[in-house]
Amino acid sequence: MHTIEELDDGRAVYLNGHRIKVADIPIFRKTLALNNQYYTLQKSHPDIHTYVENGHRYDIAYKVPRTVDDLRQKHQAYQEIAQANNGMLGRTPDFLATGMAVLAERSAFLGHNQYTNFGENAKHYAEWVKANDIFISHALQNPQLDRSKPINAIPSGYAGVHTIERRPDGIVVSGAKMVNTMAPIADDLLIFNPPELLLEKGDTSYGVAFATPLNTPGVKIICRKLLDHPGYTEDDYPLSNALDEIDAYIVFDHAFIPWNQVFVENDYEMSNRFFIETGIFGHTSHQDEVRGITKLEFATSLAIRVAHTLGLDHFLGVQEKLGRLTANLELIKGTITRSEDNGQLDEFGIYTPDLQALLAVRASLPGFFEEAMQVTQRLAAGSMVGVPGFGEFDGDNGSILEKALATSQADAKDRSKLLNLAFDLSSSGFGQRQLMYEYYHGGDPMRIRSKHYLDEDLSAGNTMLDQLLNH
Ligand SMILES: Cc1cc2nc3c(=O)[nH]c(=O)nc-3n(C[C@H](O)[C@H](O)[C@H](O)COP(=O)(O)OP(=O)(O)OC[C@H]3O[C@@H](n4cnc5c(N)ncnc54)[C@H](O)[C@@H]3O)c2cc1C
Repeated sequence: MHTIEELDDGRAVYLNGHRIKVADIPIFRKTLALNNQYYTLQKSHPDIHTYVENGHRYDIAYKVPRTVDDLRQKHQAYQEIAQANNGMLGRTPDFLATGMAVLAERSAFLGHNQYTNFGENAKHYAEWVKANDIFISHALQNPQLDRSKPINAIPSGYAGVHTIERRPDGIVVSGAKMVNTMAPIADDLLIFNPPELLLEKGDTSYGVAFATPLNTPGVKIICRKLLDHPGYTEDDYPLSNALDEIDAYIVFDHAFIPWNQVFVENDYEMSNRFFIETGIFGHTSHQDEVRGITKLEFATSLAIRVAHTLGLDHFLGVQEKLGRLTANLELIKGTITRSEDNGQLDEFGIYTPDLQALLAVRASLPGFFEEAMQVTQRLAAGSMVGVPGFGEFDGDNGSILEKALATSQADAKDRSKLLNLAFDLSSSGFGQRQLMYEYYHGGDPMRIRSKHYLDEDLSAGNTMLDQLLNH
């Protein structure tokens, strides 16, 4: 766990054209404090958040799951971490920590080259991360410059990250990755390529996977515009003034990566295999879906609280809308449990959640979250956009507003804060970014659904069909 001051370690973070100190940006400070709940929970709730291995205590995320009970304990830990930020922080340290647990066991297939053994590098890296509880962020997606062309046909060299020099002690890389959530406040950065939009033969120099500290010379963290509202309080913007997990564009400008931090190099096919075959994808997806469901629970309760506070919840049409949200929540909770119950031991004895069930969550959650946001918008209607700033309560009109905005359900300030929350999650810039996050952060839902259909076991349905059709 770091303090915000410790993050000013030479990392090159840029905001609105200026190189900044992370500690100078108030929303970064608040976000780090929330993110550090991951570490705090290890102390306050060690029976769920930690485990002991060879006499050392580690975060539970690093435990290699061997049984369904291991997955269930991890589920509970992920859920409690997500509850500490209402599911709004997608990339807390547990996300990649759980990937490191399996990377250490599954990395041998990465092979070696004349300088180094990639499989051993990945194993040792994962063990080092676990021993030191390093907070990793990741960037896999290559910039959307021209998706109609292979990466190597884009001459700028910024369509991905690629090796520009290979030396006996390591590689020098340049290029860019499109989005890196949490980059300014993480410790390390894991770079690899996505399992969709695959690299092709001519992209070989882009076929890399490596890890590097975020303060590596030549790594530039160029943040998107902030979403908070200086001048207003957290009563006005309960979410966007409390946290921002900060997406950044990452540029590599002749950054040196020693061999022991390189896991794939000069190999586009291995790079395409990295995310799935290391097991990182399956196990991080488990954490990711638990976090997503926790956020859907928050959003569902918000819609219901709005309906109740505005005296709408006795109308049948409103109840039907809210019933759709609660049904969605039940379906999705049941599916994550199914992914755990139907898990299987892989060839390394790792108990792996059922991917079809996990991908069903990923395929459906974006739509369910969007529906919850739409219901909130439609119920909170005009009142949500007409809430005066909280400063008005201390101004000339304060006593009028205290009376005018109060109802039998809530006093004026409580009602205003609830409506501000509804606006912040469903309609502010922060809320729109959350919507985008739920839609895209785990990959393109179109491709996920296509893959789901292709992989589904339809034997029971097909047997019935065949019996009827061949009768
Ligand atoms: C808020 C947010 C945070 C994120 N954080 C991270 C992060 O921390 N690390 C990270 O690596 N990534 C991150 N991402 C990126 C995310 O992984 C990608 O946005 C996602 O995988 C979709 O890829 P893309 O944006 O490149 O879109 P594309 O894959 O380019 O797709 C855009 C559209 O074009 C269509 N399309 C594109 N190519 C084809 C094709 N060949 N055939 C048919 N249709 C096509 C798609 O269906 C889609 O509708 C984040 C994204 C968001 C929105």
